[in-house]
Amino acid sequence: MSKITKVSVEVLETPVRLRYVAAGHAVESNWHVLARIDTEEGVQGIGFVVANRGSLVKPLAQTSQELGQLLVGMEALDIEAARVRMERAGGWVGPGGMLAMAISPLDIALWDAKGKSLCQPLYRLLGGYRDRIRAYASDAMWYSMPMDQLARSAQYHVSQGYRRLKLRLGHEPKPAGEVERVKVAQDAAGEGVEIMVDATESWNEVQAIANGRALQEAGIVWLEDPVSHQNLAGLAQLARNLDIPIAAGEHLYGLDGFQKTFEARAVDIAIIDVARSGGITPWMKIAALAQARGVPVCGHVVPEVHVHLLSAIPNSYLIEFMPRSEPIFKTRLKLENGELLAPQGPGLGVELDEAAVEQYRVG
Ligand SMILES: [Mg+2]
Repeated sequence: MSKITKVSVEVLETPVRLRYVAAGHAVESNWHVLARIDTEEGVQGIGFVVANRGSLVKPLAQTSQELGQLLVGMEALDIEAARVRMERAGGWVGPGGMLAMAISPLDIALWDAKGKSLCQPLYRLLGGYRDRIRAYASDAMWYSMPMDQLARSAQYHVSQGYRRLKLRLGHEPKPAGEVERVKVAQDAAGEGVEIMVDATESWNEVQAIANGRALQEAGIVWLEDPVSHQNLAGLAQLARNLDIPIAAGEHLYGLDGFQKTFEARAVDIAIIDVARSGGITPWMKIAALAQARGVPVCGHVVPEVHVHLLSAIPNSYLIEFMPRSEPIFKTRLKLENGELLAPQGPGLGVELDEAAVEQYRVG
């Protein structure tokens, strides 16, 4: 038995360090809400969520900070009890939105502490199915890039060992324009490299079916977020009418959103975001719902956490590699033959760079 002695939450503004930097690309920031949970036995668990804009990050961190104080004195291994206490306290503004996001870094920190306390890497503690997961490159292949830069980015990522690339599309006036971008990436990447497309909810149903058919002909392997995640009937219609898998889920909160999406047969591939889902505890339950329906699962960004979750379960498919948290860690994830290796250290198996945390702290 080891009780929680202290919970603290910080806000960090961190630089975005792209592996491939396109000409004219502005240097940007990300924001981290970083939670630390200390226990009587001297373990410190860490958890974090990442935002690509600074708005509302401080109130989010303040919500995490306040919820975290409810955990002091609780048994550190009793993660379900901790969650229920936080969910009840915030029930009047929940269950989704900021409440789910605010619980996430705390839930992740509790699991990191559990892994450290039991001296096991999280992927093994959570299920232990494999120790690596096939990755796809997802950075710097934006819809706004000129074709020559898109081609160079695709070539760069293939040279790093990736066999799967994801393009953001959805802003060309005609399907032929979207297809052309896919062809440019395919030609640059070479034989045997799979191309996925994320339309970031840019189309209505009519546009989505026309673009989906054209992109299907072009040989993409999945179509992500063709229409709004709230349009379950539209997603379901696309899933029925296209022969390529529809991937969605990164915008959904908690089990309920996924349950409804699965019931509507609106997705072929579930993308579960560990921040919006409310942390590791609900993420694993959503993955089990997907398993019951034969739906493969991917994570959404945050590869340091998702590499463990996707290695823990049998129905995982691919991991998205977007290493936005590298500036605050001493440790680096390893890519081998296009697969991301699960760290073998206890918990998340990552080590904070305290000097960097100090440097980037803004709250
Ligand atoms: Mg996406």
